[in-house]
Amino acid sequence: MRYGEADRILHLYTPHRGRVGAIAKGVRRARSRFGGRLEPFFRLRIELHEGRGELLTVTGADTVNGHARLRGDARALDAAARACDAVGRLFETSEPHPGVFNLLCRKLSLLDERAGTAGPHAGPAPSATTVGPVTDRAGALAFRLKLLLAAGLAPQLGACASCGEREHLVGFSGAAGGVVCGVCEAGSFPLDQDAYAFMTAALARPLSEAPEAPDPALGQVERAISATLEHHAHLRLMPAVGRLG
Ligand SMILES: [Zn+2]
Repeated sequence: MRYGEADRILHLYTPHRGRVGAIAKGVRRARSRFGGRLEPFFRLRIELHEGRGELLTVTGADTVNGHARLRGDARALDAAARACDAVGRLFETSEPHPGVFNLLCRKLSLLDERAGTAGPHAGPAPSATTVGPVTDRAGALAFRLKLLLAAGLAPQLGACASCGEREHLVGFSGAAGGVVCGVCEAGSFPLDQDAYAFMTAALARPLSEAPEAPDPALGQVERAISATLEHHAHLRLMPAVGRLG
C-alpha cells in the first residue's frame, strides 16, 4: 500500500514470524536504495528493525527470486494474488508456520515456471492420475487443500466424518468436516468419485504433481474447501480462479 509521500506499507509472509506488517521509507523515490525489490510476489531476504510501533521498518532487502516471468503473465499474476490472499487470511497472525512459507514459495515458483506456457486445456485429457502441468483451477485447489492441512483443517476423507463408515461415502459436509455416508448425508452436498480422488491425491502429492479433474468435480472440491473454511474458520476466500483462469 502507498503510504504518505514516498513510503509504502508492506504485508510480508515470513517463515519464523508469520504475517508481518512493515514500512519501507522512501521506497517510491526514483533513487530509493530498495530499487524495485519491494514489489508484490518477490521472495526476499529482508532486514527489519523492530521499534515500538506495530510496523517493523525495512532497513535492507535482497532479492532471492523476483519471479520475472510470472510478472509478465496476467493469469499467473492473478493466481499469485489469490495464493497470497489465501495465506494472508488463513495465517494472519505472527504464529510461525515455516511449512506454509515453503508452500507459498513453491507455489510462486511453479507459477513463474509455467507462466506464459500451457493454456487451461493444453495437454492430455484431464484425469486424477495426470502428472504435470494442470489447469489453473486444479493447481489453485491443490494449494488450498494443502493450506487446510497446514491449518489443521484437513477434511476427513478415509471414512464418514460423522459415523466412521468406510463404504457408501456419497457426500461432503463442512459441519462434519469431511466425507459422509448415505445415512449421515443430511446437510451435505454430493461429492463425485472424481472430486474425492482429486482431494486424496492433492493431499498426498507435492504441489508440482497436483492432480487434475473434470471441471464439475473441481467445482465440488472448491465447495468442499469453502464449506470447511466457513464452518471451522469462519472464513471466506476469493474464488480459486478469476475470469482469466
Ligand atoms: Zn455416516
